[in-house]
Amino acid sequence: MKQNEFQKVDKEMRYYDLNNGTQIPIMGFGVWQIDDQQLCESTVEHVLKLGCLLIDTATVYGNEAAVGAAIKKSGVKREDLFITSKLWVQDMGYERTKSAIDRVLIRMGLEYLDMYLIHHPFGDYIGSWRAMEEACEEGKIKAIGVSNFSVNQLQKLMATAKIMPVINQVEFHPLFQQKDLRAFMKEHDIRLEAWSPLASGHENLLTDPAIKEIADKYEKTAGQIILRWHVQEESIAIPKSVNPDRILSNFSLWDFELTTDDMNVLKSLDTNKPVLGYNPDEPGEWRNFIMKIVVES
Ligand code: NAP
Repeated sequence: MKQNEFQKVDKEMRYYDLNNGTQIPIMGFGVWQIDDQQLCESTVEHVLKLGCLLIDTATVYGNEAAVGAAIKKSGVKREDLFITSKLWVQDMGYERTKSAIDRVLIRMGLEYLDMYLIHHPFGDYIGSWRAMEEACEEGKIKAIGVSNFSVNQLQKLMATAKIMPVINQVEFHPLFQQKDLRAFMKEHDIRLEAWSPLASGHENLLTDPAIKEIADKYEKTAGQIILRWHVQEESIAIPKSVNPDRILSNFSLWDFELTTDDMNVLKSLDTNKPVLGYNPDEPGEWRNFIMKIVVES
């Protein structure tokens, strides 16, 4: 697909309504593990010029400033973009969160964020949420949500929230389909945003023979089949790549449609276990991993 075609399709389509009345593009681009600042800036600029309007960063990724610089260089109008960042665990609680929001805006050179997420349900997330609600009222953030929250954690947050979370960003791909969490979120009009939509490139997903067979049928790559599955599942996928060919192919999903049978094949790959991430039933290991990052940062 030519770049222009992508731009046209993306601009014409393709948003979901969020529960606060704002809209989010149905697909975006994630920048976790693009640690080299120059590479991050040039990749994000490239992606924005291709017509991808949603960029997902986080304070802990250490590249918010590079994303901000790419936005300026791209020339894309600010109001056309959907920029997300996330509150890191060291800034939990009301006061620290207030200050973290001001700092992220300065780092990115932005007057507002389109969405701000609590990265992990650690510490005083109720206090953090209050600060995020105030930032919405002050116009610093357009929409607020969470990441890696279980049903119990969502319920606890929602019990005192004035503003409901618009999004829960969680690990989601054919190997881990989060059925119970999704059912709860659907009931409460909280959208699912899929982190690691390609299972972070894990070979168990990308070389799965059933996916390869479908890819051959449509003359597409395994990555395109998986991302097209996300589109048809109405999950907001934010694939990361620093490879220009893969970037273009990841966003070239609009000239084919998976059949119900294809969708069922992908549905049958669910292992109900995370490949990379947080398992609410076994939080210990993940907590240790996060705490190691906290200590090192
Ligand atoms: P991903 O997007 O599922 O996969 C990225 C990996 O797959 C990279 O190694 C990439 O390598 C490779 N890749 C990309 N496109 C490919 C294709 N078409 N075929 C084969 N390989 C391909 O994984 P992710 O980066 O873990 O997740 C995406 C985004 O989700 C992150 O960048 C971040 O924004 C967000 N995230 C959030 C959380 C959270 O806790 N909220 C956790 C993890 C991730 P190349 O770069 O070499 O192409």
